[in-house]
Amino acid sequence: MMERRNWIAGRLVDGVRLEANRNPARPSEVIGHYAWASVAQAEEALGAARAALPGWAASNPQTRSDVLRRVGDELNARAEELGALLTREEGKTLREGIGEVRRSAQIFHYAAGEPLRQGGEALPGLRDGTTAMVSREPVGVVVLITPWNFPMAVPAWKTAYALAFGNTVVLKPSEVTPACAWELADILHRAGLPVGAFNLVVGDGRTLGPALVDGADAVSFTGSPGVGRAILERSVARMTRVQLELGGKNPLVVHDDADLELAVDIALQGAFHSTGQRCTATSRIIVDRRVHDAFVERLVTRMAALHVGDPMDAATDMGPVVSEAQLAKDLHCIADARGEGAELAFGGGRMDGDGYFLEPTLFVGTDNAMRINRDEVFGPVACVIPADGLDHAIAIANDSDHALSSGIVTRGLASAETFRRRSRAGLVMVNAPTAGIDYHVPFGGRGPSGYGGREQGSAAVEFFTEGKTAYINHGIAG
Ligand code: NAD
Repeated sequence: MMERRNWIAGRLVDGVRLEANRNPARPSEVIGHYAWASVAQAEEALGAARAALPGWAASNPQTRSDVLRRVGDELNARAEELGALLTREEGKTLREGIGEVRRSAQIFHYAAGEPLRQGGEALPGLRDGTTAMVSREPVGVVVLITPWNFPMAVPAWKTAYALAFGNTVVLKPSEVTPACAWELADILHRAGLPVGAFNLVVGDGRTLGPALVDGADAVSFTGSPGVGRAILERSVARMTRVQLELGGKNPLVVHDDADLELAVDIALQGAFHSTGQRCTATSRIIVDRRVHDAFVERLVTRMAALHVGDPMDAATDMGPVVSEAQLAKDLHCIADARGEGAELAFGGGRMDGDGYFLEPTLFVGTDNAMRINRDEVFGPVACVIPADGLDHAIAIANDSDHALSSGIVTRGLASAETFRRRSRAGLVMVNAPTAGIDYHVPFGGRGPSGYGGREQGSAAVEFFTEGKTAYINHGIAG
């Protein structure tokens, strides 16, 4: 049976114990055993990253670029093999698994350009014979803490930019899905990174998290709001830079002039692709009363045609929920929704077999005050909320403790633009399914869905570098 250890200071290091990583479609199938690190080993990883920092921060931009490009090349070359591994550990379909690995490769390739693009400014100083120079430097040792739902892409998009800008890294991936992060670490080591520039520690976040946060110059976290808040409080107390990407309760408005086929496609993809286990998943479908019944009828017909099953099978549209604990949480939310009067239009039950399969589930007759429309489920569960006109729909969409992604389906330019302007969410989709797949543009939520700046694209430089303004008195006038 495959055993995988932690990567610390360029070496594979045994942990305090081995934990089995299981396939959620067939829980008896163990993918591998992963060594969980101790707190002392997490501190050792921080020490290795600190020791590697001066060398990597001062490295030639071409060196950094070459390493990142090689990582992207290997991810691409192994996309089918790694996509299958991702599917086996997380449960999304093989098509989605391979797509996620290819996207991770694209992220590394894009980030490989960053060291070469990094610039600054030189301005004439206001005192004669001086120049003011504005430049950027790495922040230092960055700790990356990631969730299970994009086990390759989230570690990839944090790591690629952190390294591109000359930081050194300790990655702590979700203990639920360590396999993809381990492969990424292995690829990074073979791509030519200096010893200690990238370290991987696997294990329970509650045990390792505090020591990691305390030893970091910056923390980039993606995960649940509760954990995010704990990390924020700890980081702020030490004045450590922190970035949080958190949950969503994402609305999709179906306006009365919408192309209903398109609206159903967008709702179906948004709510049920990746088993609804996406921070940007559509969970509140706000439908104008004038098209409500026709929309619901079409959506239910399409849901009934979804093929739920083995995610390795090419015919499958939706795989299992990631774990037994997540399945229990989803079923609990479904029972609560029924208890508060939501009407089940489709699904709602666990499917036969050993795997953690849940039917795609739709509630109708809900209102926005119900718990099912307030709290993130993080599973294949969506609710329809009727609305009376665009203003009402926008008010419902914005009435949430989350502000990650939102969308509208409409044929009207004015209603689309009104929605784009008034939506509180950090990401707005017009006639398009919810996503975060464009790696060259900033990604992230607002308010309780995101804190501390955006990730990816042109935004990444803000978090992963510090500014410096220097005044040079060279004595040459003009
Ligand atoms: P989680 O918060 O349970 O775990 C995320 C990571 O935090 C894991 O690595 C975990 O081990 C670690 N952790 C747990 N307790 C910790 C602590 N006290 N200190 C430090 N680290 C700790 O989240 P999850 O269940 O893995 O992922 C699902 C959540 O992630 C959902 O809320 C989802 O919306 C969110 N998410 C957000 C985005 C985004 O970009 N906004 C993307 C993906 C997932």
